[in-house]
Amino acid sequence: MTSHLVDTHTHLWDKRFDHDREARMRSFDEEGIAWVLEVGVDLPTSRKSLILAESSPQVYAAVGVHPHDVKELDRDHLQLLKELARNGRCVAVGEIGLDFYRDLSPRPLQIKWFTEQLEWALSIQKPVILHVRQAYEEVLTILEGYPAFPAGGVVHCFQSDQRTAERFIALGFYVGIGGPITYSPKNNPELKQTLYEVVANLPLERILGETDCPYLTPNPVRGKRNEPAFVKYTVERIAAAVNRTPEETAIQLRRNAERLFLGKNG
Ligand SMILES: [Zn+2]
Repeated sequence: MTSHLVDTHTHLWDKRFDHDREARMRSFDEEGIAWVLEVGVDLPTSRKSLILAESSPQVYAAVGVHPHDVKELDRDHLQLLKELARNGRCVAVGEIGLDFYRDLSPRPLQIKWFTEQLEWALSIQKPVILHVRQAYEEVLTILEGYPAFPAGGVVHCFQSDQRTAERFIALGFYVGIGGPITYSPKNNPELKQTLYEVVANLPLERILGETDCPYLTPNPVRGKRNEPAFVKYTVERIAAAVNRTPEETAIQLRRNAERLFLGKNG
């Protein structure tokens, strides 16, 4: 069994965990999970993420407003979010970004609030968790307009090509890999390269493992609700791509996550 697993993107606040949230969190040790990063998408879920993080030493939290939800955002909400981020269990700002695929908030608003939250993260020196869908060029253009991101960040659930991944890495970001690496390429027709091929060509030191649970369940358990323990399937696939053992891969991915989010060196 692979131990040292870290899931850098969970939504345990989701109602699909209402019946077994505590049980899932209690079984982390047994499942080889060192810790998880619980990610908010708006003010209420950012609050819930922090409550979960305060209840377990194996849970950290990120607070932020997802591009889908920025239409609800205003100055007062942002102020409340900033207060939440002062909590010691909050290790990142996110998830924030641009989603031009579903367009659930108007694009100018998405850009405005993404930029605001990015600048807030820069000012408090916290890493950012980026959600990007059909807007990689737009996000990179915004990021490349800043001199540097000393606290870095991750482009979560990355699904683009190697060149795009390398541009994020050049800016000091990590590439978050989730369940889609376990899907057969025909499910990702927009990709010129499979995610597996992209990962094979990236430095393992710049990759993070994640589930995005309850969404994006990896194979071979696709169809079930996703959960932190299933990060092992993604780690196994990353390991195959980089030609290392799952255990070695899990250790390196854990080191990466702890360097980025917990400020540990190594
Ligand atoms: Zn998410």
